[in-house]
Amino acid sequence: MHIVLYAIRKSKGWLFEISLDLCIDLIWWTSEKRRDERAQQMICISSVIPLGWAIQCQQYLELDHRADCWSPTEWKQYIEKWLYNRIRNYNHSHIQYSEIQSVIPIEQIQLLWDDKLGKTEDIPFLLSTIEEKQNEGTQYPLSSTWKKQVMLGAITLAKMMTGRSLLATEYIMMMTDQQVDNIQEWKTYTQLAYLTQSLRLLTGVHIDPILGYQCQRCGSHTMNHTPCASCGSSACAYCETCLNLGRSRECTLLIQSVYVASSRTTPFSTIDIPIHTEHIQTKWGLSDAQTEATTSALHFLIGSANRLNPKAMLSKYLFATSFLSRINNKKQIPRTSYFTHKRFLLWAVTGAGKTEMTFPLIDSVLKNAGKVLVATPRRDVVLELAPRMAKAFSTTTMAVLYGGSEDRWQEADLTIATTHQLLRFSQAFDLVILDELDAFPFHNDPMLAYAANRCCKSDGAFVYLSATPPTALQKEIKRGTLAHAKVPARFHGHPLPVPKYISMPTVNNALKKKQLAHTLLKQLRYSVTRQAQIFVFVSRIALIESLVELLQSYFPQLSIAGTSSQDVERANKVLLFREQQIRILVTTTILERGVTIPYSDVYILDADSGLFDAASLVQMAGRAGRSKEDPKGLVIFASKQWTIEQKKAVAQIKLMNRIAKRKGYLHLSKSTDIR
Ligand SMILES: [Zn+2]
Ligand SMILES: [Zn+2]
Repeated sequence: MHIVLYAIRKSKGWLFEISLDLCIDLIWWTSEKRRDERAQQMICISSVIPLGWAIQCQQYLELDHRADCWSPTEWKQYIEKWLYNRIRNYNHSHIQYSEIQSVIPIEQIQLLWDDKLGKTEDIPFLLSTIEEKQNEGTQYPLSSTWKKQVMLGAITLAKMMTGRSLLATEYIMMMTDQQVDNIQEWKTYTQLAYLTQSLRLLTGVHIDPILGYQCQRCGSHTMNHTPCASCGSSACAYCETCLNLGRSRECTLLIQSVYVASSRTTPFSTIDIPIHTEHIQTKWGLSDAQTEATTSALHFLIGSANRLNPKAMLSKYLFATSFLSRINNKKQIPRTSYFTHKRFLLWAVTGAGKTEMTFPLIDSVLKNAGKVLVATPRRDVVLELAPRMAKAFSTTTMAVLYGGSEDRWQEADLTIATTHQLLRFSQAFDLVILDELDAFPFHNDPMLAYAANRCCKSDGAFVYLSATPPTALQKEIKRGTLAHAKVPARFHGHPLPVPKYISMPTVNNALKKKQLAHTLLKQLRYSVTRQAQIFVFVSRIALIESLVELLQSYFPQLSIAGTSSQDVERANKVLLFREQQIRILVTTTILERGVTIPYSDVYILDADSGLFDAASLVQMAGRAGRSKEDPKGLVIFASKQWTIEQKKAVAQIKLMNRIAKRKGYLHLSKSTDIR
């Protein structure tokens, strides 16, 4: 995409600006209303320069009064040289000087405006544009009616874009979907919204003087270069990381809404105080454990960051200042604001009812005109959450977002989305709830961390939900830098089933011998007799089919099936399992979370496998004993060895049970064994 690059002389010197419609800039900068900001001179530089290069000039190039009496040739030579030196440092394919020369044609460098030479209405460029527009049949070009229409258009687009970050193609799709009037004038409207600082115009891929190439949509630095038909460059960079959401290029226009935190009261500052605990408990039907945790989360949200200890405040401050000092951008706009967010972790055991715990938090933010996002890594969880949220917040506008969902452009107060959808937002939400935090591939995928941080308003807050928080967060808790509440008990008030250990040879071995270990078989028979639904977890997909066969030979009367991430029938099989039409389901960690089956027993075979860490073992064990009717459930760790990860998992489960007992959250009967 091309854009117009022009130079503008203000009282302090020359700056560079970009434009989608030069008429708007001329009217804007030459208006008497601008006073000190008013342009003394404006010079058109190029209308065929690739967007990325124009933005380099706009953000990093400044000139003093020396340039006042430059000839077009001097302008051309100076900018070419500056751009060449700049881009050569980053572009791996050794850009040719001639390529830069060709995008700044000498005949385009012309004086657009000089404040000594007349009125806005007499600007030759405007006069010729009026003529053009009249020929095209546009009504009242540059008249007051036209100006009003442009103003309304800019306001409409800025409002539509609130909290969004979209590539030009998505932006146009959204305008079409929202049926914006006079959509063909979008460049004109957008330019005014840009000049009034309601919208930000960026490139998909930016060249930062320190960080090098960076995708401004997903934060990635992994680039590829190709010859580009769109901008004509021989090596236009594009981002490989977020490719599946449409190509983000060096020359792609990225439009972002502008958010100013300091100009408003946050929904948190207007939450009713005092918080009525009993009211919350009855309204949302929460257990004591749920109520206590959710209330402390609410207190935290209201109480701002003052709960952090001084050490944490200092490290946050140091991080923020070092981050800011790295921004060598004359406009000083930090692209993400992740150092300002409040964060709270709800560490809730499997089956604690964490979704219900978020209801009071969501409710209080929505009631105070805030926007809430609930993000989760998986599409099936989004689909499962959506109806529950819709039921709890029936009068709220809600958008459900995943790849290919129809709500894509819908404006909503409550958004339920898969993590990848966050890339289309910027400073959009007051409260961001990240469900299944440890399942976010954050550490392998910094893109999602980047997107999550950007979509939360700089004065907004994060609430993390997890049964098995990642080590980094557990360390933060120990250091006292992360506010949190533990929910050690399940909603039904029974302790978590503690895994039992069975020693047995590997699954591979059993398959070779076509024989199950006696100890395992005995347990399985017990589960079958007690009419349980049986989860059998294995470490690898390759084992599933043969194990199903082997199990079938022992239990010919039972319906046994296997499923994995590669199984298109997975959802259906889970349904049949839930309906007890399948009694034994052999699977992998793909079903370790998000699936709740009443009356189930859990068998983890090869539990000593390196593919199962403590978190994963806790999650799988968490499938058992979920229902009120059968709260005990059976969990078996079957393996040759007793590993440190198994030990950690059992220790974590026992610890939660002890805390729950101490706090009086358990309905203990004499036979309840929590050790
Ligand atoms: Zn390009
Ligand atoms: Zn990207």
